[in-house]
Amino acid sequence: MITSLTSESIQDIQADAIVVGLSGNALTGFAAELNEATSGGLQSLLDAGQAKSKVGATTSWLQPTGIQAPVIVTVGLGDTPNAGDCFKAAGAAAKILADQQRSSVAFYFPELDSALLESAVAGSVVGSQGQDLHKKTKSLYPPEQILWASTNADAVTAGENIATGVNLTRTLVNQPPNYIYPESFADQAAELGQLKNVSVEIWDQERLEAENCGSLLGVAQGSDKAPRLAILRYTGKDSENPSLAIVGKGVTYDSGGLSLKPSEGQKTMKCDMAGAATVVGTIKAIAEMELPCHVVGLVGLVENMVSGNSYRLGDVLTARNGKTIEVLNTDAEGRLVLADVLDVTLGLNPDHIVDLATLTGACCVALGLDIAGLFTNDQSWCDQIIQSAAAVGEEVWQLPMTPHFSDQLKSKIADLRNIGAGRWGGAITAAKFLEEFVGDASWTHMDIAGPAFADSAKSYIDGGASGVMVRTLVNIARGM
Ligand SMILES: [Zn+2]
Repeated sequence: MITSLTSESIQDIQADAIVVGLSGNALTGFAAELNEATSGGLQSLLDAGQAKSKVGATTSWLQPTGIQAPVIVTVGLGDTPNAGDCFKAAGAAAKILADQQRSSVAFYFPELDSALLESAVAGSVVGSQGQDLHKKTKSLYPPEQILWASTNADAVTAGENIATGVNLTRTLVNQPPNYIYPESFADQAAELGQLKNVSVEIWDQERLEAENCGSLLGVAQGSDKAPRLAILRYTGKDSENPSLAIVGKGVTYDSGGLSLKPSEGQKTMKCDMAGAATVVGTIKAIAEMELPCHVVGLVGLVENMVSGNSYRLGDVLTARNGKTIEVLNTDAEGRLVLADVLDVTLGLNPDHIVDLATLTGACCVALGLDIAGLFTNDQSWCDQIIQSAAAVGEEVWQLPMTPHFSDQLKSKIADLRNIGAGRWGGAITAAKFLEEFVGDASWTHMDIAGPAFADSAKSYIDGGASGVMVRTLVNIARGM
């Protein structure tokens, strides 16, 4: 653990840096303590407009008189902070202070309820970690210790455990595709088997063939890297069937196949396994928190490449559930992978299924780069996800599943075609395709093509992978 509690005052604490959260206009609590210790210094900064309580607004204050710590960062939490505000504010302050190696950073936030404190703690741990995995001189240095001025040890511990899951997801996605390919991803997933109540099963090429996963194998056949399917079981509760199945698309690199992407489109395609990485990060967080739930995670891992053995346009694949699929675009491969993984999932009889995939550019066109698209065949299950996302401050928006979109998936030679006939509504036709593989199960699909990966940094998180939806999924698992 890098987080712990402190009961030291702002004046006396021997930390390398202090973060003080500002909420509303009145100087109360720790803000008042800081103001007093600095003989009205904070009030002066506020009066001059230097320090602000606007969400995420930061001010660095070097060598403040009356304080032991050499640096103070004030950060705004807004008037009535929600979980997202707390995550972002703590993340922004942590990110600023991660510019150099520090042994300890102490956070003094106003009194927050458990959910908000947990989000703030998670933000502080996520915000200080960068995507600089292969840089000799790092861009961000997480502090050795993050102290929280609170007595709520449970919330602080939970916040860190959630952040550990988020950061695992980010690291898996940020690792380049020559480091993370199906086999090496599966090895990383298998490591979770060391955690309490977690068991991991890996299907290799031979097993996938024996299981008739023809849709997934069709995508994989162009690569020298053999595919894998990983099943992660977390049994924190003794129930026969899992309450929740989390399914992830794990295309460890997507060249587009013969429907080759241009160079520009390929540059970030290591992130096409973000759905799978989200599953692994979520299971990690749930297990670290020892939640009393029964959750299973399934990830389909392939590399979509070009070779003499690549699957072709016009090929007809037979999925595990027996449906035949005419391939009319080899870059619409994620749905082909998920088709078989969803069928394997049905065999485990979960109460609810949610799948996560960087599935379509069309979803980014519809919702922008910060919002995940939701698609469902069970409105009450989708509502549960929407509420959970709102509770932790992650952005989702539901799109319609009107039946006529399925007309676009009709093929003349097979049961289905893998892309819609027209260019419009591509995020929805992709979801309608997946719906063909979930039977009567309660299912929601999350298209995270927008928010999973960012070209540039935000104030509260480095660029690259975001780890989006881990916090939402943990919150869902909590209620199960
Ligand atoms: Zn693709």
